[in-house]
Amino acid sequence: MIYCRDIFGSGPREDSIDESAQEIRLIALEINFASRRDYGFSTIFMNEGVSSDTRLTEDDLRDIIAQAKAIGVRKVLFSGKDVSSYAIVKELESFASSLDIEADVIKDEYLCVAASGKNDPPFCMRHMFSCVVTSYGYVLPCPGLEIPLGNVRSQKLGDIIKDSEILSDLKDCTNKIKGPCRYCENIEICCGCRGRAYLGTGDYLESDLICIKNINSGHKTGKLPLQVDGIIPHKPPMRIIDTLDELAERSASCSALINKDMPFIEEDGSLDNVAYLEMIAQSIAALNGFRNMNESGPSPEGYLLGAKNLKIFGRAGKGDRLLIMVFKYARYGGFGIVKGVVSKNNEIIARGEVKVWHKIEED
Ligand code: SF4
Ligand code: SF4
Repeated sequence: MIYCRDIFGSGPREDSIDESAQEIRLIALEINFASRRDYGFSTIFMNEGVSSDTRLTEDDLRDIIAQAKAIGVRKVLFSGKDVSSYAIVKELESFASSLDIEADVIKDEYLCVAASGKNDPPFCMRHMFSCVVTSYGYVLPCPGLEIPLGNVRSQKLGDIIKDSEILSDLKDCTNKIKGPCRYCENIEICCGCRGRAYLGTGDYLESDLICIKNINSGHKTGKLPLQVDGIIPHKPPMRIIDTLDELAERSASCSALINKDMPFIEEDGSLDNVAYLEMIAQSIAALNGFRNMNESGPSPEGYLLGAKNLKIFGRAGKGDRLLIMVFKYARYGGFGIVKGVVSKNNEIIARGEVKVWHKIEED
């Protein structure tokens, strides 16, 4: 049985990995033909206007291999149950070879370290130089970290890699990882299994606490869901969201319980529509604050600059619990356009876009 970390063999040389990490490009690509997965809220914004219900066609996959070549990929592996029996895979292997890309098929299914139940240090740096494209178009950082970075049906592979905040964090793992892994003597060659960290905490940057070296570390994780006090600059009563529940690519889901002391409450106990925009802005501040938790200094400042396309489909009021899902749609320096959806009891009650400014590291 082969492990996910080992499928590229001894892997690229260390200097190539460094180059790939710095230049935000890839050296290797896995195309996985496994069954379709539901990636939850993380895909609702990236699938707007595209269908992800069917497998990519042979032409789509050829195009992706050509795109992969353009961003430096030198090796493509095809994986998934019974993949070697697919006629399409033979064609794709020949196509990759015609582009001077080494291509191969992983005949036996591999075991994912994140699901192995073992405590060994993973010594894996796959996310520094490769990613996975599923046959439904989703791009994943690695097999065990199942957070889609984008979908190749709606974006070019190179743009997904370039724009991904998750991949950018992972490629800078020596500076971004939280807890004991960051101070481990193996950090230059390990970084922990990002899949195990994510499965255990909901945070892809948390330490890998399954590793034998960390079992007795006593490290307290910032496990999600997490109260947002301290990760957003807003204080009560202006802080109107409560918890950061889930993280995904440039997106987050948060929740808020509407109480009587909250601003924006009307005399009849219902919530003014402007509160939905503020919830969207605070949720994106929570995402930014959480990503910066490892940095010293205060939570990043942020302001709501304007809003558009606010659509109201329902009402909320005292005692209601709301779910707020947000996605960074576009960014220009510290300015960004954020799309947001607010739901109550699984029904969308508001949808809109806000323009925000956040103090960012580069500022
Ligand atoms: S980080 Fe973990 S799940 Fe991802 S490839 Fe490495 S060992 Fe596998
Ligand atoms: S403590 Fe973390 S970085 Fe060190 S060997 Fe274990 S998983 Fe790897």
